Amino acid sequence: MDTSITELINNQKTYFNAGKTRDINNRKAALKKLKAVIEKREKNICDALFADFKKCEFESLLTETQYIITELDNTIKKINSWARTRSVSASLVNFPSSAKIIKEPYGTVLIIAPWNYPFQLALSPLIGAIAAGNTAVVKPSELTPNTATIIDEIISEVFPKNHVAVVQGGKEVSEQLLEQQWNYIFFTGSPKVGKIVYQAAAKHITPVTLELGGKNPCIVDETADINQAAKRVVWGKFLNGGQTCIAPDYLLVAENIKQKLIVALKDEIVNAYTNTPKDSPDFPRIVNKDHFNRLKNLLNGQSVLFGGETVESELFIAPTLIDEPSLKSEVMKDEIFGPILPILSYKNENEIEPIISRFEKPLSLYVFSKRKHFANRIMNENSYGGGTINDTVVHFINKKLPFGGVGNSGIGAYHGQLTFDVFSHKKAVVRRGTWLDVPLKYAPYAGKLKYVKMLSKLF
Ligand code: NAD
Repeated sequence: MDTSITELINNQKTYFNAGKTRDINNRKAALKKLKAVIEKREKNICDALFADFKKCEFESLLTETQYIITELDNTIKKINSWARTRSVSASLVNFPSSAKIIKEPYGTVLIIAPWNYPFQLALSPLIGAIAAGNTAVVKPSELTPNTATIIDEIISEVFPKNHVAVVQGGKEVSEQLLEQQWNYIFFTGSPKVGKIVYQAAAKHITPVTLELGGKNPCIVDETADINQAAKRVVWGKFLNGGQTCIAPDYLLVAENIKQKLIVALKDEIVNAYTNTPKDSPDFPRIVNKDHFNRLKNLLNGQSVLFGGETVESELFIAPTLIDEPSLKSEVMKDEIFGPILPILSYKNENEIEPIISRFEKPLSLYVFSKRKHFANRIMNENSYGGGTINDTVVHFINKKLPFGGVGNSGIGAYHGQLTFDVFSHKKAVVRRGTWLDVPLKYAPYAGKLKYVKMLSKLF
C-alpha cells in the first residue's frame, strides 16, 4: 500500500470533518476559481488533447472545455437552490409534526475517469462533488497523459490537496486507490473495470455511480429522411474518432433503403473529412497502439464498403463502413469504440428486437423514422440508458435529462442538478410536536385493532 495515498485520504477526511467544505459560499468561490483557471488554461487544454490523440480544437471546445465551463456556470447559478433544505408535507399520523430533507455531502469521494473525453469526464463529476461539499481525489486516465497533467496542474492551482487532489497513474494506482475506504466512488469506464470497482466498493458498502458502455443500436427505417439520417449518423459516429460511449455502434437498416443510405453515408463522410481523412484536421487518432490493433483486427474478414485504411505509424483508422457482418464475428461481439460502423439490414421489423436483445442493455439507442408510432415503440419497448429519435448523441446535451446506463451499461445517472444530488446524501428528518401525543399507536393494543387500517391511511 502506498502510504502517500493513505496519508492524502486521511488528510482529506480531516479537512472534511473539520467542516471546511460546509459553507456554500466557499464552495461557490472554489467553483468560480476553477472556472477562471480553466478559462485561462483553455488553449493548453486543447493543445494537450491534440497531443494525446489529435483531437481538433473545435471538438475540444465543444465537448470538453466549453461543456465544463457551461456546467460550472449552471452549478454556480443554482447551487443555493440545489443545496437548500426542503420541507415536505408531514404525515397526519405523526401529528403534530413537520418534515424535511437535508442534503449532506458524503465526505471523501473518488472519481476515476476514462481517456476518451479525458477532460470532460474527470471534471464533470468533480463539479458536482465540490458543489455538494465533498473532498475529492480524481484519477484521470493514463492513456491521455498530456491531459492528465493539465488536469493535475489546474486542480493544484485551485485547491489545497486536502480538498481536491489528482492522483495520476494506471491500473496499479487505481487498484491502490480502490483499496481505501471512500464515502462515494464515481467511475466512468468499461463494464469490465466497472465490475472491479463495484467489488472494491462492496467491501465498505460504498455507494457508487458506474458510467459504463455498451453496444448501441441505431435503427433506420424506410420512412427516414435518408440524407439527414446519414449526416447525423456520421457526425455522432465519427465524432472523437468514433471513441464515444454513446456513439451508434451498429446500424440496423430497412433492406429496401440500405443502398441509398450507404451512398448518403459515404457522401457525408467525404463532406466531413474529405476523400483523404488522414489529412483532415478534424479527424482524431486512435488513442494508443493496443486500441489501434484491436480495431484493425475487427476488420479482418469483413466486407469493407468504404474506408478501411489503417496507418499504424499514425494510429489512423479511416471512417469505415462494413457490410452485413456475421452476428458471430468479432466486430459484433463487444462495443467497437472506434471509427468502424457495421451495417446490418432487416426485411421485417420483427427481426430488430432479436438482434438488439442479443447484447447486454446498451448505454444508448437511436431510431430514425417518420413513423411516430414505430419510433415510440422502439424507444418504449427496449431497455437502454438514454436515446434520441431522428438524431444521435444529442440527448447527452440536455442538462435536465439524466445521463447514465442500465444493467451492464451502468448504475446511476448525472448531469445538471443530478450531479449535485449524486454526491449528496438525503437525510430525512421529522420534528414532532410535544404538546399532543395521540395514544392510538402505543401498546397495549387491546381494543385498537379496528383502528389500524385507518391509522395506516394517515401515513
Ligand atoms: P477503462 O475501464 O479501461 O479505464 C477507465 C479507468 O479505469 C482508467 O482511469 C483506468 O486507469 C482505470 N483502470 C483500468 N484498469 C483498471 C483496473 N483493473 N482496476 C482499477 N482501475 C482500472 O475504460 P477506458 O478504456 O478508459 O474508456 C472506455 C470505456 O469507457 C468504454 O467502455 C466506454 O463506453 C466507457 N465510457 C463510458 C462513458 C459514460 O459516460 N457512460 C463515458 C466514456 C467512456
